[in-house]
Amino acid sequence: MELTQKEVDIKEISAANSMILTANFPHNKRIDDFDFNFQTSVNQSQIEELIGHQFIDRLENVVFLGPSGVGKTHLATSIGIESARKRISTYFVKCHDLIQNLKKARNESRLESRLKFYSSKKLLIIDEIGYLPISVDDAKLFFQLIDRRYEKKSTLLTTNMPFKDWGEVFLDPKIANAILDRVLHHAHVVQITGNSYRIKDYLEEI
Ligand code: ADP
Ligand code: MG
Repeated sequence: MELTQKEVDIKEISAANSMILTANFPHNKRIDDFDFNFQTSVNQSQIEELIGHQFIDRLENVVFLGPSGVGKTHLATSIGIESARKRISTYFVKCHDLIQNLKKARNESRLESRLKFYSSKKLLIIDEIGYLPISVDDAKLFFQLIDRRYEKKSTLLTTNMPFKDWGEVFLDPKIANAILDRVLHHAHVVQITGNSYRIKDYLEEI
């Protein structure tokens, strides 16, 4: 039995929706919700290009670097939603949760399958590197994942920490360097400066 165009459309929409649901996004913020006039340090055409997801085909990474509240998670999520909508396997996780999850898997002797889960995603978004320090042992787990994805899959990271301070985040400068080396080899670094959107109304009053 042939499907009508409408049935095909419905199937595609529901497949896209299920990709979005499994991607574990923190919210449903889109690029249209982002005010580029407020955050003038963000180059709109660069973000639109990232939304176009060619970087995923080219196995490139993206890093959003900037202080709290400037829109890193918002932009990362909107790029992720568009890639999931195009049925590219995408997964969003906070750095701290990722590490806890890998540790739990290791303690339960299922680290390999968990590493496979995270390495299989065409786009893995790791949010909030740098807010919490990462022990040397945890940094080694994180490194294993980054190394598996290196030149095979795209990873999008957000961080509030300049790269020179990653040695403090991972508590071991050698591991931090090895991680940075792989992340930055083929990467788009989007540096965001400026004020937090969260407190913009207070800033106007001051
Ligand atoms: P960060 O991850 O950099 O700490 P978020 O992306 O979580 O910041 O942004 C904080 C809040 O402000 C979110 O609700 C986000 O949607 C909103 N926000 C940030 N920047 C903008 C912007 N330029 N336009 C619209 N909303 C923004
Ligand atoms: Mg954030």
